[in-house]
Order: sequence, then structure tokens, then C-alpha cells
Amino acid sequence: MTTFPADAPAPLREARERIHARNAGLPTFLQAVDEVFADLAPLVAQQPDLVAHALLDRLAEPERVLTFRVPWTDDAGRVHVQRGYRVQFNGALGPYKGGLRFHPSVTLDTVTFLAFEQTFKNALTGLPLGSGKGGADFDPKGRSDAEVMRFAQSFMTELHRHLGDDVDVPAGDVGVGAREIGYLFGQYKRLAGRFEAGVLTGKPPAWAGLAGRASATGYGLAYFAERMMDARGGTLEGRTCVVSGAGNVARYAARKLAAFGAHVVACSDSTGRVHDPAGLDVDLLDAVKDERREGLAAYADARPGATFTADATVWDVPCDAAFPCATENELDAGDAKALIAHGVTLVAEGANMPCTPGAVDAFREAGVAYGPGKAANAGGVATSGLEMRQNARFETWTEDRTDEGLRDVMAHVHAACTEAARRIGRPGDLAAGANVAGFERVAGAMHDQGVV
Ligand code: NDP
Repeated sequence: MTTFPADAPAPLREARERIHARNAGLPTFLQAVDEVFADLAPLVAQQPDLVAHALLDRLAEPERVLTFRVPWTDDAGRVHVQRGYRVQFNGALGPYKGGLRFHPSVTLDTVTFLAFEQTFKNALTGLPLGSGKGGADFDPKGRSDAEVMRFAQSFMTELHRHLGDDVDVPAGDVGVGAREIGYLFGQYKRLAGRFEAGVLTGKPPAWAGLAGRASATGYGLAYFAERMMDARGGTLEGRTCVVSGAGNVARYAARKLAAFGAHVVACSDSTGRVHDPAGLDVDLLDAVKDERREGLAAYADARPGATFTADATVWDVPCDAAFPCATENELDAGDAKALIAHGVTLVAEGANMPCTPGAVDAFREAGVAYGPGKAANAGGVATSGLEMRQNARFETWTEDRTDEGLRDVMAHVHAACTEAARRIGRPGDLAAGANVAGFERVAGAMHDQGVV
């Protein structure tokens, strides 16, 4: 349920009002809070003990918010100043864990909302992971490797004192891939004076990274969608799919969906959309986006039969299944209606909160199977948890071992959401199930640990 119910139990309503009053400048964070709290109404009514000791207020208040200056020098010798952030949101289940985003749109609102979502996602994995998120309003696009390195080093010079393999363990997100993680790790190692492998995840497998981590969010999304289809007595084979974005999550999702026999016919980036009725050539996408660092028009130029439309989304391309994998609030109620009109039966989120509340309502009303990001994209952080385990044990895992772990976690997440949804009388509602199951695990740990 995305619209906050007027008849919600009083403790829930009052906590929500206090949280709104305290965070008026953080609209995306408040959107995420409302979305979770709306689904807690039946739970709070049944178990008032769960909200004792201001548990709801504490759950929506980050343990620590860090903002810091990040000065760096470009190749021409000009000095720039960015703002860095780290929100250490909830440490009840383990060290703070969540990615870093380098993108010009990053604000305190962005990282607070992402860290809040991460709390429930990490709880759903069943692993001992607290939650955090961070980043900076730095745009790596068009910057040389040397500029990205200088920025990353400056960022880590400030952040390193707040990290540690049992304190806070960042990873990648938008704009932070293997290159950035490498520079960040190198600077951490220099400042700490030791090779603390588990302090960052998403490292290249050639040195302390986990084979299979890079593909985990996208592959996990496809595994989750497979379970959603199965729950309705179907499979992904032969289904026409669209993904938005053309980054890490979108491309690995497209690869695994194709391996399941689906036809992935469209993707997008910040310049526009590609429609490729023959099925996306993901190797070509890798070359265009990673090696040449170009927009999707270059894909269409190189691929007969594919068309590029500037400033367009993928949501009006007819499909059976849609996978938003770009960014928050990228799919609104109008887009949802277009997808529904074309007969979409499944929507699973690779990105964090890509569907607006109006879009989620539209999918629910139309009976579309809807997999929320905090469940469907949990494969990335879960596999980061496996990378921490590999590092702690001084081991080197194979990709097959990682994939087996990923499949297990996605099955666990799907089962936990399904079970919780059934228990609160909303069978099949994976979003409600994710919110309730995630809440119960974190709230239980917070309750046990007292007022901290
Ligand atoms: P990347 O930076 O690798 O890719 C993001 C892609 O989305 C890029 O292709 C970018 O275009 C595109 N994009 C950004 N904004 C828009 C827009 N408004 N319309 C269309 N395309 C857009 O990021 P990731 O793939 O890592 O992350 C994508 C999403 O998945 C984010 O919400 C992230 O938080 C979430 N996520 C990522 C995880 C991970 O392991 N990486 C884990 C869990 C969630 P362009 O190339 O032009 O910039």
C-alpha cells in the first residue's frame, strides 16, 4: 500500500507526523518512509509492543550523518569542491553496509532515502548487515582516470576514519564501479597502513574481490523474477522484456533474462532509448557504455534493425515484463498505465524505488505482479555480504559458489516476502511482505539491544 491509510493505528500515525515534521527538506526520504509505514498498519495493530520505546521514530532516524568537503584538482589545474556524504543509518544487524553514488544529482535527501531503503533490504537477506549509503555530487562523466582518482582519493581521505570491516563497509552504486572502488581502496590502504580487504566490497576479483559480485544485482533480479513468474504458474521463457538504464544492473539483468529464454528488446540511458526487436546485444552495450563511454545512439548506429529515440523511455515499448534499473521515481502513473495497456504482467525493480507511489498503485489495481527493489535487487548487497565473508576467511571463492549463494539468498528473500504477505492477509503482495519482513527483523534486534 503506497497511500498512507487515514485509519492507521494512532502510534503509527503520530510517529509518521513527527518524522515528517523533522525531515521537511527530505521529500524522497519521506516518500520511502510513507511507503514502508503504510504497510506496517496491520502489524502495529496486532503487536503494539513492536512500537514501544519510540521504535518507529528510532527506525526512521539515522544513527549518524556525515557531510564533508571534497576538494580536488582537474587536469587543467582548476580546483573544484564537491560535497561528500555518508549516512550510517542502522547498525542493529551488523556493520553499516551500502553503496556510494557519484552523480551530480546526489543530495542529503538522496543518500538518506537510499540508506533507509537499505535497512529493510539488508534485513531481508538474512545476513548480519546493518545499513548505510553515501556518495557525492561529483560527475565522473567525461573525466579522465587521473581526475577520477584524485577525486576518489580526496573523498576517502575524509571518509576513511569512519570505516572499518566491522564498522562501515561501502560498495559501488551509480557512478562507482570497479575503477572507483580501486582508487578508494588504494587510498584507504595508504591511510590505514594495512590491507583491510573487507572494508570495501565490489573490488575486482583479481585482488580480494569476489568472482560474481559485479553481475549479482542484475542476475539476482532475474532470479527473483523467475520466482515471481513461478508463483503465478509461468516462466520467463519467450516473454518480451524491457529494462531501463544501460548500466551495471540493467545489462546483467538483460544477460540473465536472455539466458532464461526471454527477449529483452529495449533499454535506455540518460540520452534516450534503444529499441532492438531482435534482442539486445549486451556485448555491444558493454563496448558502447564501458569502453567507448558513449550514449545509446552509438549502439543503434552499430546494430542493424535497432532504433534510437532521444529523450524517450522504454515504458511505451510493448512487453510482458518490465525491469526499471536506472534511478528513483523514473516510472510514474502514466508510464504504468502505458505498460498495463500493452499487457504487462510483471514489474520487478532493479533500481531503488524507481516506481512512484501512483505507479505502484496502478500495478496493484491491475493485478500486475510487482517486485519492490528492496527485495528484487537485494542480490547485490547479499553478494557483498559474501565478499565480506570471503575476505574474513582469507578465501578465494569461485563464480559458481557465489552464484549458488546468490540463488539461495534470492529464494530466501522471495520466501520471506511471500510468507509475511500471507501472514498479514495480503497474499501475493511482495511489497507489503518485504516491508513487514524487513521491519520485523530490524525492529526485533533494536528491541533486544535496548534504547540505543
Ligand atoms: P550505473 O551507473 O551502472 O547505471 C545507471 C544507468 O541508468 C546508466 O545507464 C544511466 O545512463 C541510466 N540513467 C540514469 N538516469 C536515468 C534516467 N533518468 N533515464 C534513463 N536512464 C537513466 O548504476 P547501477 O546500474 O549500478 O544502478 C542503477 C540502479 O540500481 C540505482 O538505482 C542503484 O541504486 C540500484 N542498485 C544498484 C546496485 C548495484 O549493485 N550496482 C545494487 C542495488 C541497487 P548514463 O549511462 O547515460 O549515465
